[in-house]
Amino acid sequence: MTRSAKADVDVVVVGAGFAGIYALHKVRQAGLTVMGIEAAPDVGGTWYWNSYPGARCDVSSYNYAYFFDPEIVRQWQWSDSCAEQREIQSYLRFCAEKCGVVDLIRFNTRVTSAHYEGGSGTWTVTMGNGESVCCRYVIMAIGALSTPKAPDIEGVDDFKGLSLLTSNWPKDREIDFRGKRVGVIGTGSSGIQIIPEMAKVARSVHVFQRTANYVIPTESGPIDENKLQAIRKDPITVRQELRTTYAGLYPLGIGAHKFHELDEAGRQQALETAWEGNYIALAFRDAYLPEANAAISDFVRKKMLEVVRNPKTAHELVPWDHPYGGKRPCRSDTYLQTFNEPHVRLVSLKHTPIVRIEPDGIKTTEEKIELDAIIYATGFDAITGAVFSIDIEGLDGQTMKQAWKDGPVNYLGTMVHGFPNMFFPSSALSPSVLTNMATLAEQQIDYIVDTMLWLERHGYAGIQPKLQSQFDWRDEVFRYAQRYPGALTTNSWYNGANLPGKPRVFMIYCGGFHKYNDRCMAELKSDFPGYEVLR
Ligand code: FAD
Ligand code: NAP
Repeated sequence: MTRSAKADVDVVVVGAGFAGIYALHKVRQAGLTVMGIEAAPDVGGTWYWNSYPGARCDVSSYNYAYFFDPEIVRQWQWSDSCAEQREIQSYLRFCAEKCGVVDLIRFNTRVTSAHYEGGSGTWTVTMGNGESVCCRYVIMAIGALSTPKAPDIEGVDDFKGLSLLTSNWPKDREIDFRGKRVGVIGTGSSGIQIIPEMAKVARSVHVFQRTANYVIPTESGPIDENKLQAIRKDPITVRQELRTTYAGLYPLGIGAHKFHELDEAGRQQALETAWEGNYIALAFRDAYLPEANAAISDFVRKKMLEVVRNPKTAHELVPWDHPYGGKRPCRSDTYLQTFNEPHVRLVSLKHTPIVRIEPDGIKTTEEKIELDAIIYATGFDAITGAVFSIDIEGLDGQTMKQAWKDGPVNYLGTMVHGFPNMFFPSSALSPSVLTNMATLAEQQIDYIVDTMLWLERHGYAGIQPKLQSQFDWRDEVFRYAQRYPGALTTNSWYNGANLPGKPRVFMIYCGGFHKYNDRCMAELKSDFPGYEVLR
């Protein structure tokens, strides 16, 4: 195979969120030609679509941002430690404009297929309008949480009131919830952010909870000036330092002691210190031990119980069925407090499941609740949803649906055997949501573009991971998942359990961002021993 002269453009980047914007910039900087394609009318990705009231990041904004350009770090002034959706979207627009990549993007355009042609070593990427573009590399920056899970409840279409999805919130109008009877289904991170906002204005709020989640306070508030100065002084060094941390956060607190080094009083002290310092998940150096995790889980449950005045409601709101970390913990300073309001009521679907949605409300096994609006905060077809919505065909006609029929497989979270020169940032079997995903996106795009440049330098036509590398990576991901509390035993989107019929595969690498980065760097430094080169 020789390098193709057939391509219209060297690289196509699909998606214009954190990963896609940086990919466009980095590829162009590398001297390759590039085109972006985005389904939305603007940049932002997650931060374009999820514009529901209360949406905001729950890690510090000065971490949840780009570091590749010191000017951006110094110029952008976040108004809060945990910025709101609108601000993050403006930030991403600002970055895209500053890098001059907006004009490279075809907006309002969905990619429907991508087919590889072995002879020319090119991908043909086809768009919803039937147009196609031929390229040598594809970066599928399509997001892990970009395909909403369709509400799987009988009667959804019968409801005559307002039906809204947090993950595709209307952009064309402000919705006035004053005086309305609002029902919210779902109590994951999206639900717990929107519920307090509804409680501020609605006549009544019914919260339909199937599974309770851990809820811990946020770091919201004014940004710590010392931290800010430290970050702004030398952003490039911070960028490198972030890659040596477990979760891509700087600086991240961690308990001073191991669990068994402490007696009961010492453990309580460590838990209180971690709670105050906002790092409860790492209250002990070995917080992954089941006994350490049990202490953390109990501690958070106790804190939650203290907030809600009605003991029955408090008990229902606390997750007794899974350990801390089994599902993604939620962060809010107002969610639990909301249940102390007289017009907010918890409906526990464990005891009284929804029977169906009716034209004027929701019928449970016990009652009919009349509503003017239903908000579905029911989550995503995470990670594989966006991939499967594109007809991807690689070497010898193999499809991604076949390759991932038993769950996702890849090497280092980014490339799949049989699909040369196609890269998936923010995807399966990467540190994903267990890291700061902005930092991860930057690291992965660096790795991906450095891989392309290596191919270009050597005049190679392509690269794909060895099959054995994929098996080994899958085993490594599984090994870490085994020691991650609740990973294999909790029903969560992390392992596909939120969608009936989805293969149960734990989709996140829990070894830590630092180890992940080291593995990528080792491939780069040793000329890609885990991959096969196509010449
Ligand atoms: P996305 O931002 O999801 O962008 C993917 C883009 O690809 C989308 O714009 C989509 O329209 C486009 N696309 C998909 N398929 C196609 C197609 N076929 N054709 C054309 N375009 C397509 N992570 C954190 O680390 N910290 C947080 O605090 C945090 N908060 C979050 C809050 C919410 C409400 C949600 C949903 C997620 C949050 N996340 C958070 C995770 C978040 O998804 C990532 O941090 C990050 O924004 C992902 O960036 P991305 O570029 O990989 O993907
Ligand atoms: P989610 O965590 O998957 O939560 C979905 C909720 O809907 C769950 O409570 C689920 O219950 C419930 N649900 C789903 N189908 C249902 C049904 N048919 N009947 C009743 N209840 C149903 O989704 P999410 O809240 O959108 O969050 C997804 C991820 O996005 C998060 O884990 C996080 O990574 C990210 N996010 C982050 C933030 C942030 O603050 N930074 C905000 C929003 C989202 P079960 O648990 O029983 O399935």
